Parts: sequence; C-alpha cells; structure tokens
Amino acid sequence: MSGKVFLVGAGPGDPGLMTRRSLELVAAADAILHDRLIPSGALDGARADADLRYVGKQPGGHSMTQEAINELLVELGSRGLAVVRLKGGDPFVFGRGGEEAQALVEAGIPFEVVPGVTSGVAAAAYAGVPVTHRDEASAVALVTGHEDPEKPDTALDWPALAAFPGTLVLYMGVGNLTAIAERLIAGGRNGDEPVAVVERGTLPGQRTVSGTLADIAKRATEAGIRPPAITVVGPVALLRERLAWIERRPLHGRTVVVTRARAQASGLAGTLSALGARVIETPVIRIVPRPVEGDLAAAIERIGDYALVCLTSPTGAALLLEALRARGRDARALAGATVAAIGPGTAAELARGGIVADVVPERSIAEALVESLAPVPVEGRRALVARPSEARDVLPEALEGRGAEVDVVALYDTVAEPLTGDAARLVGEADYVTFTSSSTVRHFVAALGQNGSGPPAARLVSIGPITSGTARELGLEVAVEAERHDIDGLVEALVRDVEASGA
Ligand code: SAH
Repeated sequence: MSGKVFLVGAGPGDPGLMTRRSLELVAAADAILHDRLIPSGALDGARADADLRYVGKQPGGHSMTQEAINELLVELGSRGLAVVRLKGGDPFVFGRGGEEAQALVEAGIPFEVVPGVTSGVAAAAYAGVPVTHRDEASAVALVTGHEDPEKPDTALDWPALAAFPGTLVLYMGVGNLTAIAERLIAGGRNGDEPVAVVERGTLPGQRTVSGTLADIAKRATEAGIRPPAITVVGPVALLRERLAWIERRPLHGRTVVVTRARAQASGLAGTLSALGARVIETPVIRIVPRPVEGDLAAAIERIGDYALVCLTSPTGAALLLEALRARGRDARALAGATVAAIGPGTAAELARGGIVADVVPERSIAEALVESLAPVPVEGRRALVARPSEARDVLPEALEGRGAEVDVVALYDTVAEPLTGDAARLVGEADYVTFTSSSTVRHFVAALGQNGSGPPAARLVSIGPITSGTARELGLEVAVEAERHDIDGLVEALVRDVEASGA
C-alpha cells in the first residue's frame, strides 16, 4: 500500500462497529489524521512509527480549517504515504469527506472511500428505534440540524422537510432543537409527533430522551442533553417503548474499573462491556516473565522426574508451557506426571497447550487445591510448584508436610505500574472496582496513594476470601465477594449486586 489516501469511517463510537477494512487500514497506515469522535482504542492497532495527527475541533476552541486538512491530505498523499483520514460515523455523511475527495481528485492523488456505520442510524438502533419500518416509515431523511433555521439564508427548505413522508434524522441539532421543532410544526408536522434524542449513541454512557415535537426541546434541556446527539422525528421514535434493549443490559450505566495486568484484562473487560458496563482499565501491575535460567532452567531440564506438577495461575500455566517450548520440549514432557491446576482458568490455559489437568478444584484457592490433592500419593516423590515469585506457601508446605520433595520455582514477577492522573480521576467516577488477586489490591492502593488519592468511593468487588482479606488489611471495605473464585464468578457476583441495588 503506497501513495494513497483512504477516507475511512470509524463508526459511531462503539469500537465493535468499526469495519474490518478500517482496522486493516489503521494497522497499515504511515499517517493517520483523525477527528475527536472516533471510538476509543480505534488507533490501538496503528504502527508504532505511524504519524498520528489529531485534526478535529477542540471543544469550544480552535480547529484546523477544512482547507488546511485538505492541503495536508494532498501533501502527505503526494509524498507516497499511505494516509488514513479517520472520521466518526461515515465519511460521506456530514463528514466533509466529499470535499476531501474533491481536493484529492484535483491534486491527482489516488484515494479510496471506506464507508462507516453512520450515527443517525446506529444511535437510533441502539436506542431501540428502527429508522424505517414496514408500517410506520417508508422513507428516512438525514438532515443537518446545524443550521440555525432562523437564519434568512438557510439552505434547508423547512416546509419541505416538514412535509417529508417519513422519518427525519437530525444530526448536530441539539443546540437548535427549539427552533427546529417550531419550524417543523409551522410547516405542518403534528406537535404530537414522537421524537427521540439520543446522546452518545452506542457508547457506554448512551442516554435517550423521548417526547413529542412540541415538548422535546424542553425535555432535552431539562435532561442536560449535549452533543454528540441525534434527533429522530417520526412514529418510529415511539417503538422504543417496546424495542429499547441497551438499557436492559444488566450493567448498563455502570462504570467498572478493571485493575488486572493489561495482558490479562481483556477477558474480564470484554465480558463486562458485553453486559453494558463502561469499563475503565487501570492496570496497576505488569507481568514480567523470568528468564529460563537458574532454578527454573534446572526444573525444566528434569521435568520428567516430577511425579506431580502444580500450576497456580493461568499466567503461570502459559509461561511453563513457553519455558518448555524454549527448551525444545512439548506437552509430552509432562506425560508421566500428575498435573494439578489451581482452578478452571489455569486448567483452560493448560488445555491450550494440549494438557488436560488431572486435578482441578472448583474454587481457585491454594487451600482447595491442597484438599483436591489429598488422594494423590506424594510421599517420597518429587513435586514441582511453578508460580509467581510472590505467593503464599500454603501449597508447598502442605506437600512437604505429606513427605513430598518439593521444588518451588518462580515463573514471573508482578511489578507495579503507576496510575496516570487521568486514570485516578476515572476511578473516582466509578461505581465498582474489581480485584482479581491480592497483588492487584496492594498495587492499586499504593498507586492511588502515589497519586495523592484516597481509597475509592466505589463498591469493591473481590474474587475471593484471600483477596478480600488483603483488601481489609489495607483498610478497604469489600462490598461484594465472588462465590466462585474465577472471572465468571466475579462477574456474576457483580451483576447480582447491581440487581439487588434495584436501580
Ligand atoms: N459522519 C458522522 C457525522 C458527523 S457530524 C456520521 O456519519 O455519523 C457530527 C454529528 O454526528 C454530531 O453532532 C451528532 O449529531 C452525530 N453523532 C456522531 N456520533 C454520535 C453518537 N455517538 N451519538 C449520537 N450522535 C452522534
């Protein structure tokens, strides 16, 4: 890909609504010029050496003129670069993408257009409003509400729009809602006609205000609706009463902090988002694998001597398999051993390497593993406990107590990640903070302290009694403790707490 400009739609805000093509192009681009209203994380896949430039409006402030953006596109394109112009929604729907394409044609720069999911249709859909409907609306008009209808030279024919036989979807109109509604009523549209205003559509904070043409401006003002928002006028707006779905997701409107290390956070974060939560990732620890040398290398060398091999975390399981691979070994190295996993997550990680664990307690805590290992003969045999450098000694001590010869090796360290000021502020807005291990609690409290913030006001959710104990030792109040000590168990407990709060 060289010497081309791609006018790319990034969709309305939900990262899942970016097209596959848009992600491919972001990943390959030499330069990316983007607006403010692009999904969070939209640029995560960009190359580390890509030239990323924000060319959108500063809220209430200065912005690059359209002419300057056009010139920049032409300039970068003529240098032979692959340039992505990334815009909210669809580039050709009120995105000024048409003008940019014209400028590129004039300059002889090759370009492609990648359509995006437009907010007028998507925000409505996420609010339970189909913009067309067999019985209710056979046409839909996308209208800019940006123009002040009181302006004498308005480009819009308001009487014609009032007479339009179908749904009106107004972009950019929140500030002019009073005048727009008046114009439409003056043009013959019924004051009782249903209207829905959708703010931050498809985003975790999505809000909808419903009303009629006659009262919607007042209702939107009372609710404090602010851009970005779209306004849907027509009988379809009423279907929301039956079809609204996003608000019914169990964690809709809740902000949940995930404190796990980034490498492990995605599963939990994904599950919470799918349930409607706004997820804030504040990784306060990072996993640093130990090099395969010393004790660890020695244990790998003689892995065949162990009658029992115990893994105490999914990360540990993954790293042990990697260490085997690094030494030219594979799953067969464990053929003779009883393999024990501390819980289902760890067992799943082993399964990825082709190993079915022999012992898996349901509750992922050391005490449960010790109990499950009771029938396994260990006396006079060698056992390996492969784990993080910082861990409790319950398991090795129990095995030694039963006469096993135990080697304990550290596969990785968990090190502190500082919390940015921004992240600390977001934690202050959260409804829930989740903890999946004692070390996340400790590092989280330390990181908040370094930022000069006190303990969070949010309800704290812990994966199990050990994690809760650490939290309480540090003076935190644990509101929710999972009954099953894995990620699904934690999510289940959180959802139950939200339901119990009745809000
Ligand atoms: N090209 C974009 C529109 C850009 S104009 C598209 O196709 O969606 C900017 C306007 O789009 C905003 O003023 C608002 O009316 C609308 N908009 C963009 N994102 C939105 C969102 N997430 N929810 C509601 N409206 C949105």
